[in-house]
Parts: sequence; structure tokens; C-alpha cells
Amino acid sequence: MSKPDLLMTGPMMPLVQEGLAKRFTVHKLWEAADKEALLNGLTQSIVAIATGNHAVTDAALMSRFPNLKMVGSFGVGYDAVDAAWAGQHGIVVTNTPDVLNEEVADTALGLLLCTVREFPQTDRYLRAGKWLEKPYPLTATLRDRKVGILGLGRIGKAIAKRLEAFGVPVVYHGRNEQKDVAYRYYPTLKGMAADVNVLLIVAPGGAATNKIVNKEVLEALGPDGILINVGRGSVVDEQALIEALASKTIRSAGLDVFEDEPRVPAELIAMDHVVLFPHVGSASVYTRRAMAQLVVDNLVSWADGKGPLTPVDETPWPPKA
Ligand code: NDP
Repeated sequence: MSKPDLLMTGPMMPLVQEGLAKRFTVHKLWEAADKEALLNGLTQSIVAIATGNHAVTDAALMSRFPNLKMVGSFGVGYDAVDAAWAGQHGIVVTNTPDVLNEEVADTALGLLLCTVREFPQTDRYLRAGKWLEKPYPLTATLRDRKVGILGLGRIGKAIAKRLEAFGVPVVYHGRNEQKDVAYRYYPTLKGMAADVNVLLIVAPGGAATNKIVNKEVLEALGPDGILINVGRGSVVDEQALIEALASKTIRSAGLDVFEDEPRVPAELIAMDHVVLFPHVGSASVYTRRAMAQLVVDNLVSWADGKGPLTPVDETPWPPKA
């Protein structure tokens, strides 16, 4: 039996490459000397794409393949894939939800503690021999804080559960109030920002959330406020954030995600009171393997006629009539 043709847009983990090669003929776009020639030669045969945040899978790319039926994306955030267009053209898109919830929630708590208690700075202080001169200055605390979560979804709930165990009050904002959660809901982001002193972002990227954390929201968060972002860099107006940090409009920030990764503004790198992580939210061997396996399982299940396992909201399965 000949294997269906799959386009892989960029380097993916060996587990994905090897797992997919058992069921598909995998064409590695990034290895092709002449990418246009490779794409042109595969116009009719490509039925599936495997991708991730390393590449934009937009209408321009997908429309080159009239027989394309499935896009398997690595990661729970799939803002690099035009899922709305895919849905309108009978193409199912899958992501890798749930298997990373606990890891990203762990990272969020680590980043929050690092930012509030300045742990990376204390490490730098010790290594520089400054402890021999005098103790590290006293820091802020999590003890008197209320955390407002922007995006109380799968990961947001895992973060909230940890914060509850830490004895820290949690509230949230999203487009909808969730009847089955006990945390207070704020219908506006600015209203929530004004009422908390930690704003923790774990909302998706994309047009609907682009720069919704803006100058006004940061002003509402106020001079004791701390911004934590483990969602997407695009959710924050990065220039407004830099200005708010420089002018002490807010106290500090802990960021795992940025507008133009892996490029991080020099102004942020120069600030000693912010904590910057290189997008490591889910980046453990254990969790990345689980995500990789889910990419493979989705594509193989679809190829076996059993349907995708975790289709995104824009491309429900089975498709709506
Ligand atoms: P979910 O879809 O489960 O949750 C997303 C939440 O965001 C929902 O509560 C939703 O609530 C809210 N939301 C969506 N759109 C908007 C909007 N326009 N305005 C306000 N709130 C909105 O996603 P996950 O929890 O699984 O993942 C969340 C995001 O975390 C991912 O999309 C990804 O960008 C990011 N992420 C980052 C990682 C990292 O390494 N730093 C790793 C994994 C994920 P409602 O529908 O009510 O608006």
C-alpha cells in the first residue's frame, strides 16, 4: 500500500518524524534545496501537513494543495495556522491540548515566584560575590497579592489550582463567564486589572487578543502591579509594557513569551527588575514527548479513517453539516 504524502514545514522532534514516516511519505520542506520545486511537484499529492510555531501555515500555503485534508500542529496554541480558513475549506486542524497543562502551570508559578521574590537576581547577586559584602535587599511578596488570570482555560485552571494551594486569591477575565468555577469573573480586562496586583496572561494569540494588554490596562494594574505572560507575546503591547516598566507605572514583569521571538527587545534585556524566560513553558523532555506523540496520533488516526483526536474549535470533527 502506498503511503499518503505529508508535508513537514520545519524541523520537528525525531519522535514526530519517525512516527509519521511509518504511515506517511514525509516531505521535509526545510531540507529542500529548491522549496518551490518541491511544493510544485507535490501540488496534487499532499493530503496532510505537519507543522508548529516554526512556520506559518496560512491560506497561501494550504491553497496550493487541492487535496489537503488535515493539518497537525505541534503545541496547543495554533495562531500560526489559519484554522478559520482551513475550516471553510474542509481541512481539519489539530493541536496538542491538555498534555502540557501541568508543565505550563508549573512554569507559570515558577515565573511568578521568580518575579515577585527576584530569585534569578538573588542567584546573580551570590555569584557576583556581593553576599560577602551585604545581604540581598528585601523583596516583594506573594502574600498580599490577588492574581487575575486572563484566559481561565485548561492551563489557566491548572494555574489557579496551584495558586489556591499557595493561599493566593484568584479571579479571572475571558470573553465568557464560566458558571462551573468559583472564582470571581470580571467582564472587562481593565476592570480586573484595576482590582488585582498580578495580571497573569495565559490566553491564546491571534487577532482577537492582539495587544489587548495595552497602556490603559497596565495603568489600571498600577505601581505595585506585576505582569506575568505565559500565553502569547502578541497579547501584550510590548512597547507600552517597556514604557510602563521604565516609568514604574507597574512594578515588574515575568515573561515567557514575546512579540517577535526569539528576538527580545534590548530595553527588556537591560532591565534588571524583569524576569525573562526563552519560551520554555512546556519545554521538558517529558511534556514535549507527550506533545510530539499527540501530533503523530492525530495524523495517524485520521489516516486510518478514525478521525482526528483533538481537532481545534474552528474545525470540529465530524464536520458540522
Ligand atoms: P484554552 O482554549 O483552554 O483556554 C484559553 C482561554 O483564553 C479561555 O479561557 C478563553 O476564555 C480565553 N480567551 C480566548 N480568547 C479570548 C479573548 N479574545 N479575550 C479574552 N479571553 C480569551 O487554551 P489553553 O489553556 O490550553 O492554552 C492557552 C494558551 O496558552 C495557548 O493558546 C497558548 O498561546 C499558550 N501556551 C503557552 C505555552 C508556553 O510555552 N508559554 C505553552 C502552552 C500554551 P473565553 O472563551 O471565555 O474567552
